[in-house]
Amino acid sequence: MSMWRPCSACKKPIAHGQRYQVCSVSTCNRPRTAYVFCSVGCWDSHVPTMNHRDAWCEEERAPAEPSAASMAVAPAAVAAPGVEPRRRVVTGPAAEAEEGEVLIVASRLKQYIADKADMNTSADVLDALSDLVRMHADAAIRRARAEGRKTVKGRDFEA
Ligand SMILES: [Zn+2]
Ligand SMILES: [Zn+2]
Repeated sequence: MSMWRPCSACKKPIAHGQRYQVCSVSTCNRPRTAYVFCSVGCWDSHVPTMNHRDAWCEEERAPAEPSAASMAVAPAAVAAPGVEPRRRVVTGPAAEAEEGEVLIVASRLKQYIADKADMNTSADVLDALSDLVRMHADAAIRRARAEGRKTVKGRDFEA
């Protein structure tokens, strides 16, 4: 068996066709970096040095020993730094609550009513309460605006 690549941790050879571990963290898999580990233990040893959180390793198999014909495609060409796919940033909709939108956390409210009175909560309660919240919020906004404030405060809700 010939060596495919050395382990990124212990530098022991990973042979062609041998199983090896890769890191789940994208920065460890950039073409320029492309860490490979001969064992889970070796992968484990790099985790604290890289300050990973929520990392795991995945088992891969090294490519089979290249035949003379496929040697023409040098592994270096594969490992050459490529252009990384641009990560699409999805921006959320404006945080403004639309008219008629439910403003109440249904699960919490249902839990509250169940705990307090052992009663069920019908779906339209959420709409009715959302309307009330909107009404009070609108009144509080008017009060804050009247005092030249840009912040709605708790006292704006006092009767
Ligand atoms: Zn190793
Ligand atoms: Zn890593």
